[in-house]
Amino acid sequence: MSYVNEVIAQVIKENPNEPEFHQAVKEVLLSLEPVVAQHEAQFRRDALLERLVNPERQVKFRVPWIDDNGQVHVNTGYRVQFNSAIGPYKGGLRLHPSVNLGIIKFLGFEQIFKNSLTGLPIGGGKGGSDFDPKGKSDREIMAFCQSFMTELSKHIGADTDVPAGDIGTGAREIGYMFGQYKRLQNQFTGVLTGKGLPFGGSLARTEATGYGLLYITQEMLRCHNIDIAGKTICVSGAGNVAIYAIEKAQQLGAKVVTCSDSTGWIYDPDGIDIALLKEIKEVKRARLTEYLAGRPNAQYNDGRGVWSIPCDIALPCATQNELTLDDAKQLVANGVTAVSEGANMPTTEDATAYLQEQGILFLPAKAANAGGVATSALEMSQNSERLHWTFDEVDAMLKGIMVNLYHNIDEAAKKYNFDGNYIVGANIAGFEKVMEAMMAQGIV
Ligand code: NDP
Repeated sequence: MSYVNEVIAQVIKENPNEPEFHQAVKEVLLSLEPVVAQHEAQFRRDALLERLVNPERQVKFRVPWIDDNGQVHVNTGYRVQFNSAIGPYKGGLRLHPSVNLGIIKFLGFEQIFKNSLTGLPIGGGKGGSDFDPKGKSDREIMAFCQSFMTELSKHIGADTDVPAGDIGTGAREIGYMFGQYKRLQNQFTGVLTGKGLPFGGSLARTEATGYGLLYITQEMLRCHNIDIAGKTICVSGAGNVAIYAIEKAQQLGAKVVTCSDSTGWIYDPDGIDIALLKEIKEVKRARLTEYLAGRPNAQYNDGRGVWSIPCDIALPCATQNELTLDDAKQLVANGVTAVSEGANMPTTEDATAYLQEQGILFLPAKAANAGGVATSALEMSQNSERLHWTFDEVDAMLKGIMVNLYHNIDEAAKKYNFDGNYIVGANIAGFEKVMEAMMAQGIV
């Protein structure tokens, strides 16, 4: 058995009931085979891959909070500090009932390579809770966030671990968590990113993941002599990533015809009305059914179905494993040219393999959605400097980072004879820097 397969087997044995973590480890390690082959004796002696797949630290804690009726609830909180070889742990906090240790570990593991790809000094981590923010009052959200941070604050810090938002954790939740951290530690530091603008947030952070997704997709298409202007795009999701992906796609001259949430999806042949979508999702926090008012040609359907609509470019921006093999077949039959992952691991393993076999341009999440964490790192820099950069300054840096990132993964793929395979390119380019740092720092 190859070294890589031995380590994968060990991960599956030692981490039972964590299928998403197994999937992420397999996907990364298998594509590192060509690099591992060059250094196998040294990697084996230093147990480099074993160290890579074992988090440096993981904490699991009780989060008790009181609802508006005086009832106490208990949720579980997690923070997985995966790898600090190239910088302080960095990665979001997910608040969703589906959260468990395996999901946080899959996200934290992916984050190591994504953060490395940004070219900025940030390690990999992830956290969250099985708390469901839906339907809770502001006071209940605050009660949860304060209790969550009371424990989390013992493990993080501006030079140790800097969490950010993710599914269910937006500006409101980050604000409550930041307030509690400051109160407990008596320190005003950049310990969280995605903060509100008046207390250290960065301009363009809200837009960064969606905008970055479009910048890198545009660069990939440009290098294949395809102009994004005039193309039809299907987007899934209607959250932070989806909204700003739609906005930037429209600014670049494309037409986005779909979006979705966890209950249903919209097909609007006239192009999604972004102002209306923001009003529904960012202001009212309402369901997508409200979109139909004032959009005569739009259709709403329950369930899932975004990928049945013909498009040139597909941008899955909702959640993991939301684009299946059947969806991929439908997209290919409808003539799709490119798929770029806005969400983390939205495409199932078999769907990814199928899209690649069919020669579809495919940008994996760790490259395609790295704009969010890259801008979080820019927020950390501004906090350290105690300065505020303008929107245009941050946006220009974001664009530069995403364009460079595309060329780095393209070159890494070519170097190992996987031309056009951006999954392999992203894993190798992300891994090489982390590996060098780990080897230089000795057995830690
Ligand atoms: P949000 O919570 O803002 O939005 C998530 C969207 O996806 C919502 O529209 C939600 O619908 C929908 N959704 C969630 N779960 C499901 C499901 N099981 N089935 C169908 N739809 C679902 O999250 P973000 O936009 O921030 O994150 C989306 C993805 O992007 C995640 O994978 C996240 O890890 C990733 N990501 C986010 C970054 C960021 O900066 N925000 C950075 C990098 C990656 P509903 O409203 O009904 O729940």
